[in-house]
Amino acid sequence: MLPEIEVRSPATGDLVGTVPNLDAAAVDALVARARAAQPAWSRLPFGERARLLRRYRERLVARADEVAELSVRETGKLAPEALFVDVLGTAGVARWCARRARAVLGRRRVPSGFLLHKRCYVVREPYGVIGVISAWNWPVLNGMRAVLPAIAAGNSVVMKPSEVAPLSALLQREIATEAGWPEDIFLIATGAGDTGRALVASALDKISFTGGVETGRRIAQQAAQRLLPVSLELGGSDAAIVLRGADLARAASTIVTGTFYNAGQNCTSLERVYVEASIYDEFLARVVEATGPLRVGAGDAVDIGCITTAAQLTKIEEQVNDAVAQGARVLVGGRRLPGPGRHFAPTVLVDVRQEMDIIQLETFGPVLPVVKVRDAAEALRLANDSSFGLGSSIWGPKRLAERLVPEVRAGMTLVNDAVLNALVPALPFGGIGESGTGRVHGDDGLREMSWARSVMVDRGGGAREAALLYPVDRLGRAGALAAVRLLAGRGRVRLAGLGQLLRHVPRLLRRGSQGGEQ
Ligand code: NDP
Repeated sequence: MLPEIEVRSPATGDLVGTVPNLDAAAVDALVARARAAQPAWSRLPFGERARLLRRYRERLVARADEVAELSVRETGKLAPEALFVDVLGTAGVARWCARRARAVLGRRRVPSGFLLHKRCYVVREPYGVIGVISAWNWPVLNGMRAVLPAIAAGNSVVMKPSEVAPLSALLQREIATEAGWPEDIFLIATGAGDTGRALVASALDKISFTGGVETGRRIAQQAAQRLLPVSLELGGSDAAIVLRGADLARAASTIVTGTFYNAGQNCTSLERVYVEASIYDEFLARVVEATGPLRVGAGDAVDIGCITTAAQLTKIEEQVNDAVAQGARVLVGGRRLPGPGRHFAPTVLVDVRQEMDIIQLETFGPVLPVVKVRDAAEALRLANDSSFGLGSSIWGPKRLAERLVPEVRAGMTLVNDAVLNALVPALPFGGIGESGTGRVHGDDGLREMSWARSVMVDRGGGAREAALLYPVDRLGRAGALAAVRLLAGRGRVRLAGLGQLLRHVPRLLRRGSQGGEQ
């Protein structure tokens, strides 16, 4: 038996609770329970599963304050942040899945092409048991946005939450059970990284991972050994581009929020801003003005909460110090703050160069580098100079900004806005490049948790097309060519194909052929 994991508040150091650190045998046992429960769950009609998702949502909202409080105690975020993202965001995903599962996953007729005597349709099938591994920064939403579509699609789930914030996950299971979900369709495997590794090695049918790039890479390699399907929601270094003609007051205040919300610990936090030279000074002045008064700490009277882990605080500090050592200037903040609690001052940096770690790596903290660029072309070039491709934000006259959307290498682009897309459950959420593969949220999030079964049903009674294929020489090469021209050609080619095929009719009417191709 491995020693238990202690969860401590980043704000006070107080013990929040302890959870078991499960070993591989315990993980395997959970997966076996989830597998036994899944077939009955998948056989329930969509309507019944939707009812239980709606019930979960009701119970989540009924216990919103308690859910947010636990998220606050585990991560050191602020209560309104937990309420808006962990509770409201998760409630939105639950509602979306309940409302859309039947339309997205249910039977969908498709054309049968030239095979007019067939009836064709597609149904989306559950994988079976889905493993969900999640990060600590939004301890409810990060996991549940994968769990809910998986459950809606008829899978069962074993979730491994971050060891930093596992109690929030256990509370979600309690709420789901209270909502009437069958006992074993949603199970939690608490533990550290090794528990996650054991989950990937277990008898799963798919893994859905949210976390850092390096862990994602390790999981993808491990999963590749047995071709286990994988969805990866990984890190980012989202860029904002601010162009001449943008509403600078709104741009500055929204970009400040998009950078510092949850102390910058969002995968889609803005981590670098490229500003056209002619508006740079005014934009920067507004950003500095908006950042200066932000209050850091814990409780209700602050704007920015804790950096959740000690390792994260060190990483932020090292990146800022490295940038400063290479010539960057700190206009606001720039340092870790004295305790109690782990805090980093909201920071505005200038004179930052593209090759610095603060630009190239994910910071995941309250740091905003502002970079002056000549024009939109240079802004795009620098924004796209990144191994990541998660979110992005373009500010400017609406038509110009929207025209640039396809030029940005990112899974998500906001025009004259930042980060709020995570609260729109209809919008698929995910990245390209090293930011991962696959999507949560939206119809794509439901498809992600299912596979497409193609069904073709012969209507019966019509021509037996197998008789056209065997014996092969009944139609022969010339007849096959005529059929291709008729079925796939246009205009004269098609007419010619028809004529050629008609010449084959006598041969087709004979049973079998003695002569072969002539
Ligand atoms: P990590 O990659 O460190 O951990 C993520 C999860 O993986 C945790 O549950 C962790 O367990 C587990 N884990 C660690 N090692 C292994 C392993 N070898 N096999 C299986 N599981 C393992 O990320 P963080 O928790 O530090 O989260 C921060 C990262 O998550 C950032 O990069 C952020 O951008 C990204 N993220 C991406 C999002 C997106 O939608 N794209 C959303 C939110 C965050 P344990 O914690 O116990 O070590």
